[in-house]
Amino acid sequence: LVYYIGIDLGGSSVKAGIVTEQGTVVLKDKKPTRSKEGSDTVIRDIAALVEELLVASELDGREVGGIGIGIPGAASKEGFVYFATNIFWTDVPLGEALGKMTGKPVFVANDATMAAVAEYQLGVTQKTANSVFLTLGTGLGGGIIMNHQVYSGSHGIGTEVGHMTVGHNWDYDCTCGNNGCWETFASGTAMKNHAKKLLSQKAPSVLTEKTKDDPDHISVWHLFDGAKEGDEVCLQVVQRMTRYLAVGIANLINLFDPEIIALGGGISAASDCFLDELKLQVSERIYVKKMNLTRIEVSQLGNDAGIIGAAMYARDEERRSKF
Ligand code: BGC
Ligand code: ZN
Repeated sequence: LVYYIGIDLGGSSVKAGIVTEQGTVVLKDKKPTRSKEGSDTVIRDIAALVEELLVASELDGREVGGIGIGIPGAASKEGFVYFATNIFWTDVPLGEALGKMTGKPVFVANDATMAAVAEYQLGVTQKTANSVFLTLGTGLGGGIIMNHQVYSGSHGIGTEVGHMTVGHNWDYDCTCGNNGCWETFASGTAMKNHAKKLLSQKAPSVLTEKTKDDPDHISVWHLFDGAKEGDEVCLQVVQRMTRYLAVGIANLINLFDPEIIALGGGISAASDCFLDELKLQVSERIYVKKMNLTRIEVSQLGNDAGIIGAAMYARDEERRSKF
């Protein structure tokens, strides 16, 4: 029996799991991402997490075929991370470092790409030739499957949909340094920032009570719950997020004409608050309006998609390397 380790490195936490060859998670755990302390600390934490999982599962390292890791940024095939804005990484040789620490082959790709792999193999986009997976959380990530294959561009730095410019953001620049990136309008972070701004203008809201009057404690759940309760501030936040999500998705449909756009990440769990409106606005924006055929679906694997996809990616890449 061979197992693979899948790791999902995110802005707030790093999740890891031991996964069977078929994609079943046997054991998983997570730690906070200490990104402010630099990449060395984060990489050491990841290696420790892997070690802890191996001990807890009583698996021998020999039974592990490889490690896949999804990162919130752009990396080369060799595992060199060029840029990952939300964890402040530039030029980090992650694959090499983690390979040395664990003694295992390490395969690195974008976090949304990994989740797209999981959904393609076991979830909502199974058997679909062309799909775009979007993950909405700290940032907004994209994973593209084209002709049943992962598409990451010519240098591994493509599919950075969250940094497509979709307008001008008068409130703040993107963490990447540009202005108007899609993720500054449509992501968990964007929603929280928008709510904070409205509260700072003294708009009355249930958020004051929900967060004990501390705007830094706003979560996307407060916002979706508040919107369901009819709170004006929360409704405005959800409506603007939905509008911009529709703008970007219509762009992607015009570009790729995929069979499915799959929504993942924290926000997708609250899709009942915005999915119908989103579909309507997308249908009004796409170029060939009568061909409203791209389905917008919610991911099926939820929070584990990143771990599972990273493990399956490692399995496939490891097998490929043997040929
Ligand atoms: C990054 C992407 C990532 C996404 C989700 C964006 O800010 O640029 O690479 O996939 O956040 O984590
Ligand atoms: Zn950006």
